[in-house]
Amino acid sequence: MKLTWQPYNLQLKHPFTISNFSRTFTPLVLTQLTFEDYTGYGEASMPPYLGESPDTAHAFLSLLDLSEFRDPKEQKEEILGYVDQLAPGNAAAKAAIDIALHDLIGKIEKAPCWKMFGSDPGKMPYNSCTIGIDKPEVVLKKVEEAKDFKVLKVKLGSEDDKLLINTIRSVTAKPLYIDANQGWKDRSRALEMIHWLKENNAVLIEQPLPKQQLDDAAWLTQHSPLPIIADEAFQRLTDLDRIKDAYTGINIKLMKCTGLAEAQKIIKAARASNLKILMGCMSETSCAINAAAQLAPFCDWVDLDGPFMVSNNPFKTTEMKDGKIVLKNLDGIGLELV
Ligand code: MG
Repeated sequence: MKLTWQPYNLQLKHPFTISNFSRTFTPLVLTQLTFEDYTGYGEASMPPYLGESPDTAHAFLSLLDLSEFRDPKEQKEEILGYVDQLAPGNAAAKAAIDIALHDLIGKIEKAPCWKMFGSDPGKMPYNSCTIGIDKPEVVLKKVEEAKDFKVLKVKLGSEDDKLLINTIRSVTAKPLYIDANQGWKDRSRALEMIHWLKENNAVLIEQPLPKQQLDDAAWLTQHSPLPIIADEAFQRLTDLDRIKDAYTGINIKLMKCTGLAEAQKIIKAARASNLKILMGCMSETSCAINAAAQLAPFCDWVDLDGPFMVSNNPFKTTEMKDGKIVLKNLDGIGLELV
């Protein structure tokens, strides 16, 4: 197998603001894994605050020598184990290998990944579209742009949380997923806010408190009328034991957990611990989003809006129907080139 990669700047339609920063593009590295006549596609998305960059991905990918692996399917676990142990961290760069490898195996096997995973397309949850923190007039524009979505995900954690919700509620009654991105600091005030949000048809609350405040998260989960989901507090499978009693559920992102193989293991372990599951994403092209969608029917909620928020997706945009991502009968992750 041979690996190649290139950097790519993914431009956002709107500057993206969450509780503590703002940006206009997301640096990516796009990968291709070739074996015989087949090519698998992968992607690393690296929002700067997470610590990876095209430079760190380049350094990590340069360490790899995949030339000795001659059977992608039979050696999948071996390959991914080799990649993971090569250096700590580098979760997004590792995901770029994992996604390309799954795509490659699907193409060799002439089967969609979702079929190989045993996913039931009939169980695909609605997809949500994220509304970042912004001025009321921009928020209204974003809500209009999200008209194909039946659920909105709202970023809170600023001084204007109620204004933002009231602005959205002036034009739509759609259910809301709330993501505070650690923006609330006090558990009692967070609980008050959650009660108010429930009255406003919020469905779940993601990372309301700083990730270090595990005892407060446990208290909030115990008292909250809505599910409390760990995002920043949960990265990889090894984090599950530490946080599982403090949250109702977890947000799985391929870029955090190194890809589809580990995501599958997390889903299994989370279900065994009675945790709810949200499948989330970073700013990503259709490549990483299509990959995550292959496992989405195993989850309770889906927030895979990456390709719908960007203006230069280099692949064909992920298809949605009736507010849900469509799992097509295409080999691998079902990525279509333009
Ligand atoms: Mg989040």
